[in-house]
Amino acid sequence: MKLSRAQCQTVLESHHLKVTEPRLMVLEFIGAQSGPSKAYDIIHGLTVNPPTVYRALASLTEAGIIHRIESLNAYVFCLHLDHDHSEGHEIFFTICDDCGRVDEIDHDLKTNLRAVLKARNFHAKRRIFEIHGACSSCA
Ligand SMILES: [Zn+2]
Ligand SMILES: [Zn+2]
Repeated sequence: MKLSRAQCQTVLESHHLKVTEPRLMVLEFIGAQSGPSKAYDIIHGLTVNPPTVYRALASLTEAGIIHRIESLNAYVFCLHLDHDHSEGHEIFFTICDDCGRVDEIDHDLKTNLRAVLKARNFHAKRRIFEIHGACSSCA
């Protein structure tokens, strides 16, 4: 998802984040990639010092604008930027191990999962599911 600088600003504002240069640079960088952006590539692709980049990544992740895919150590835009992320949301990624394609899937599993967690009185903080395999073109 290629975003202009103005669109990046709007995304930050709509998620109640202060518009800062490092955040804009990180969003533009991730938007310019066709697949997930590896943390290493973001750090090395920007002329900002690494701690600043990590802070920007952390705040953008926290706000739900981007998601971290742990098994790839990479970041992607949330495909549901218009959603309210205030109470967090369950995220299901399908990751093709052959071509690297990553999709965020929206599924009614979410409703069931919430009910199950609620019944157990479990307070979930990180609800990211990473499903590895082969996509329809690679299978
Ligand atoms: Zn998302
Ligand atoms: Zn594939």
